[in-house]
Amino acid sequence: MNILRNNLDKVISRIEKARIAYSRHQIIRLVGVSKYSGIQDIQTLYECGQRSFGENKVQDLKTKSQALHDLPLQWHMIGTLQENKINALLALRPALLHSLDSFKLALAIQNRCARENITLKALLQINSSNEPTKSGLKPQEAIQTYLDILKSCPNIELDGLMSIGAHTREISKIQDSFALTKDIFDKLSPYGAKTLSMGMSNDFEIAISYGANMVRIGSILFEK
Ligand SMILES: *Cc1c(COP(=O)(O)O)cnc(C)c1O
Repeated sequence: MNILRNNLDKVISRIEKARIAYSRHQIIRLVGVSKYSGIQDIQTLYECGQRSFGENKVQDLKTKSQALHDLPLQWHMIGTLQENKINALLALRPALLHSLDSFKLALAIQNRCARENITLKALLQINSSNEPTKSGLKPQEAIQTYLDILKSCPNIELDGLMSIGAHTREISKIQDSFALTKDIFDKLSPYGAKTLSMGMSNDFEIAISYGANMVRIGSILFEK
């Protein structure tokens, strides 16, 4: 209990410091990435005040959200979504899908949502570091795809962008990848983009300095 509370306190003060350095008007939301952790630790962080948690597999999201269904938690799907898992995901009514990564996936989600008469809030994932192993749209396709989804998918509430920072120790490459996503985000703000999900345990302060207003933090939050 004390270790997790201490982790959360430390993460929150680091976020706060980076936030103030960026802008006093910025509001930043923290998603606790619980993919390495069990029910008990999620419940502990809930008791410390944390409400949003993220998983990268639909099956884990299902198991954990069902085990904790009596707590008022917000569940985020942050990992790559296979088309054959769309129905299972929608049944869980997640707060936000961070990993919408193609127009084709959007159309498949749109079909299922229309049939069920529900909506899904989602972020378009951008592969801003151009790493072939990463999912996400190419930066040069991002704006057109965002607009296409807005037009063709009335049951998807597109709310902004998600990106994973470049996987490297070179700070300048990480900065470049976040700067690129922020630039696309600014171009999409006239079209309603509000959430910019960037930053994980190793790079969230850099992400915040480039305008992230949602960070996804796992390891340093749950480590014991
Ligand atoms: C695992 C994961 C995170 C959290 O990573 P940490 O380095 O443990 O903070 C954030 N975003 C995505 C998409 C992830 O898969």
